[in-house]
Amino acid sequence: MSFESLGLAPALLRALQEQDYTQPTPIQAQAIPLALDGHDLLAGAQTGTGKTAAFGLPLLQYLINSPQEVAPRGGRKPRALVLTPTRELAVQVHDSLRGYGKYVRVPSTTIYGGVGMNNQLDALRRGVDLVIACPGRLIDHIERRSVDLSGIEILVLDEADRMLDMGFLPSIKRILAKLPKQNRQTLLFSATFAEPIRALAMEFMRNPQHVQV
Ligand code: AMP
Repeated sequence: MSFESLGLAPALLRALQEQDYTQPTPIQAQAIPLALDGHDLLAGAQTGTGKTAAFGLPLLQYLINSPQEVAPRGGRKPRALVLTPTRELAVQVHDSLRGYGKYVRVPSTTIYGGVGMNNQLDALRRGVDLVIACPGRLIDHIERRSVDLSGIEILVLDEADRMLDMGFLPSIKRILAKLPKQNRQTLLFSATFAEPIRALAMEFMRNPQHVQV
């Protein structure tokens, strides 16, 4: 099994090669073809399994392959949103995606609390395709209308069980209510699938495919 055989774009393959990723991990081999086909995914995977690339590569490929809607007055709305439980994970996911996307242009920003608003506001004003956010601070931006989530085409919930353990379920539901219902792909990654996660999936995903490592 090779990354080439999963159907990834040459620009992504080149970045993977440089990082010495010679072979997809099991979660990547299972998740990437389904995600590239446009399916919603419920993926059972722990940290360390390569889950970031399992959602990150299809996400980047989608952004570079599909035409982007240019909003009036040249502004651009984010098209992909990754929700993470912590600021550390947001930074880590951002770094990983920047590495995988080294040869493609995908403007992105992180959004998390505990730091000033200004850098985040500037990035959002300049316009980004990809936002990697923690739920609490994203709600702050929604309330002050500094982020417009009506153009989100791909949503990733990373470490969903941890987000729920941390009490983010109400925030996640508020965020989900701001996203388009149609034509959205949702990828949910979690180490465990207790009832509240299943319920969330039932409510907000369409016909999700299950993958598990
Ligand atoms: P993650 O589970 O996404 O946090 O990834 C765990 C570690 O594995 C990270 O250091 C990744 O850079 C690395 N990694 C992910 N996928 C691969 C791969 N296919 N080949 C080699 N290393 C990988």
